[in-house]
Amino acid sequence: MDRKLMIQQLESTPEWDICIIGGGATGLGTALDAASRGYKTILFEQYDFAKGTSSRSTKLVHGGVRYLQQGNIKLVMEALRERGLLLQNAPHLVHNQKFVVPNYSWWEKTFYGVGLKVYDMMAGKLGLGPSRFLSKEETLEFAPTLDPEDLKGGILYHDGQFDDARLAISIAQTAAGYGAVLLNYFPVAGLLKLQKKIGGVWVKDSLTGKEYEVKSKVVINATGVFTDAIMKMDDAKHENIINPSQGIHLVVDKEFLPGDTAIMIPRTDDGRVLFAVPWHEKIVLGTTDTPADNISSEPIPLQDEIDFILKHMGRYLSKDPQLSDVRSMFAGLRPLVKGKTKKTAALSRDHFINIGDSGLLTITGGKWTTYRKMAEDVVDIAMRNYELPEKFCKTKELKLNGYNEPVTPAEITSLSPEELKTIIKKSVEEEMCMTVEDFLSRRTRQLLLNAQEAINAAPLIAKLMADEMNNDAPDSYRGWIKEQINTFNAIAINYLPTTNKPDSYWEQTKN
Ligand SMILES: Cc1cc2nc3c(=O)[nH]c(=O)nc-3n(C[C@H](O)[C@H](O)[C@H](O)COP(=O)(O)OP(=O)(O)OC[C@H]3O[C@@H](n4cnc5c(N)ncnc54)[C@H](O)[C@@H]3O)c2cc1C
Repeated sequence: MDRKLMIQQLESTPEWDICIIGGGATGLGTALDAASRGYKTILFEQYDFAKGTSSRSTKLVHGGVRYLQQGNIKLVMEALRERGLLLQNAPHLVHNQKFVVPNYSWWEKTFYGVGLKVYDMMAGKLGLGPSRFLSKEETLEFAPTLDPEDLKGGILYHDGQFDDARLAISIAQTAAGYGAVLLNYFPVAGLLKLQKKIGGVWVKDSLTGKEYEVKSKVVINATGVFTDAIMKMDDAKHENIINPSQGIHLVVDKEFLPGDTAIMIPRTDDGRVLFAVPWHEKIVLGTTDTPADNISSEPIPLQDEIDFILKHMGRYLSKDPQLSDVRSMFAGLRPLVKGKTKKTAALSRDHFINIGDSGLLTITGGKWTTYRKMAEDVVDIAMRNYELPEKFCKTKELKLNGYNEPVTPAEITSLSPEELKTIIKKSVEEEMCMTVEDFLSRRTRQLLLNAQEAINAAPLIAKLMADEMNNDAPDSYRGWIKEQINTFNAIAINYLPTTNKPDSYWEQTKN
C-alpha cells in the first residue's frame, strides 16, 4: 500500500461505486468485500487504520459465551461460523486458544459445562475442539496460578484469539490487492449532496492540507462510535443511535498466568465476564462495560475500572496483581446501538444497517469476529438499493494478505538495529505507517504490551522512520522527529499505569 499512489488514483478517478467512511474492522471489511466483487472502492480513515475501537479489543475471535447466556442464539451461531472462517482465512493472525472456566461451586460446573457443550454443537464442523470437564488437579495443570482454595474443578473449551490491528492491516492490503484505494489521515469533513441525495464526500488530507471532492454512487458510514457525527452531517436533526460503552484492559507479565491457557470467569459478583488471556508473551486482563459520555479517539481508563479488574482478578489468581505490575493499559469504546435498557452490558452486539432519506448507508454495532458478515450484508444492501451491477460476495474463502508469510513482531525490544530497520521499512513502504504512534501501537504492539518500553524506544523509532521516509530537509527532518516524539509521549502517558502521574490525571479519570 503506497499512499502517494493511492492519492494519484483518488485524483484520477471521476466517480467511485462505493465510498466508505471509517477504517476500522467494519469499514476495512466492507472495502475488501466491495473491491473483491469488482466495485470501484475507496475508503477514508480520519487517523490511522484501526486507530479507534478496532485496535483495543480483548483480541478474541469468539461466538461469545456470554451472548449464549443471554439467549442470543442467532448472534452466537453467526459468530461461531465467522470464527471458523477467520481461522481458515487468516491463520497467520488468528489461532485456536484454550480457555479454562474455573468452578468454585458444583452448580457452576454443571451449568457452564452444559452451556459449553451447546457452544461446541453450535460451532458444528467449524468447531475448534471439544470442551471437557476437568478435575481440580487438571484445572491447576492448565492454569497453575488459579487460586486453589475452594476450587472444585473446571471446564476446558476452545475459542479463537488474534491480533486486531495487524488483522486490520492484512484486510486493508488484501482490499488494495483488489484495486481498492484506502487512505489514512483523510477525515471526511462533509457529504456531497445533489437534490438532497448523497453523491459523495468532502475530504482533507491532514498530512498535506489538500482538500478533495469525491463522487461516489454509494456512501457507507462505518465510523463506529462516530456514527452519529456522520449521520448529523447528513441530517442536523438526527437523534443519536449509539450508546458508547467503554471497556479497558490491563496488561501484566506472564508470571500471572504461565502456560498457554486463558482463564474465563463467566460471572463476577456484579455479573460481568472477566478474561485473562495470554497475548504476545504477556497477559491481557479485562474487560469492563462502562457507559461513556465522551467519544474520543484516545479514551482513558477510569480509576474505578482499573480497581475493578485488579480486585476481581486478585480473587481468582493466587498472586494479586497490583497497579505496579501493570505494563500497559488501554481503553476502547463499543459502538452499541441504543435499546430499551440503560445497562450497556445488556445491549445487543448484533449489527445494525440503515439507509437514510438522503441515501446515506450506515453500518454499525457487531463485533470484530463478525466483520466479514457485516461487510457482506452491507454490500448486498448497497448492490440491491443503488445503481450497482449484481456481483456476489467472495470473501468466505478468501485468504487474507500475509497468510503464508512471517508476521511482524509485536514487541521490538529484543530486535537488533538491522531487524528494526527492516520492519520499519516494511511498515512505511507496504503498510502506510505514517507516524511513530502508528508504528509503536498498531504495526507493532509495543505500546499495548509495555508502555514504558515504547516511550523509551520512541526517539530511535522517530529517527529511523525519518530516514526511511526520505525527509531530507535538515530543519523539517529534525522538526518532524521532535514533533513525533512529543505527540507520541502525550498519547503514551495514558497507557502508563504508574502511580506517579500528576493528580490532574487521576482527577480526569474519576466517574
Ligand atoms: C473493550 C472492547 C473489547 C472488545 N473485544 C472484542 C473481542 O474480543 N472480539 C470481538 O469480536 N469484538 C470485540 N470488541 C468489539 C470490536 O472491537 C468492535 O465491534 C469493532 O472494532 C468495531 O469496529 P468499527 O470499524 O465499527 O469501529 P472503529 O474501529 O471505531 O472504526 C471506526 C473508524 O471510523 C473513523 N472515523 C470516524 N469519523 C471519521 C471521519 N469523519 N472520517 C474518516 N474516518 C472517520 C475512526 O477514526 C475509526 O477508526 C470489543 C470492543 C471493545 C470496546
